[in-house]
Amino acid sequence: MKYCTVVNCMDGRVQRSVLDYMMDRFDVPYVDTITAPGPNGILHRQMDGAAVRAILSCVDVSVNKHHTVGIAVVGHYDCAGNPGDGEHQNMDTRGAVRFLRSQYPNTPIVGLYVNERWRVEELEVADS
Ligand SMILES: [Zn+2]
Repeated sequence: MKYCTVVNCMDGRVQRSVLDYMMDRFDVPYVDTITAPGPNGILHRQMDGAAVRAILSCVDVSVNKHHTVGIAVVGHYDCAGNPGDGEHQNMDTRGAVRFLRSQYPNTPIVGLYVNERWRVEELEVADS
């Protein structure tokens, strides 16, 4: 098992720090990377069913084919796809983590926030 999985924003500013964080956090060499604009908002609010399904179809490959060891959902500072402050981001990220936990109950799932210095912070997310 050499993969972990991140559902990240498409924003180029957050890619490198999230990739590095994931490799350390889950101690694996490969990070399956699914991107969308503001995916934490997509998965939490579920206003766009097609966008939700597109993300889940990618996560399914990571879980079922790559046997991923863990999944992270990302929110970040100054997000164009999901505008809002850190509190808004983390509310959506926690909601997205809970949704993914309901879909993939056997896989560890965490939430991340990339701050204004492009440093990664891991959120505490209680189950529902
Ligand atoms: Zn963004």
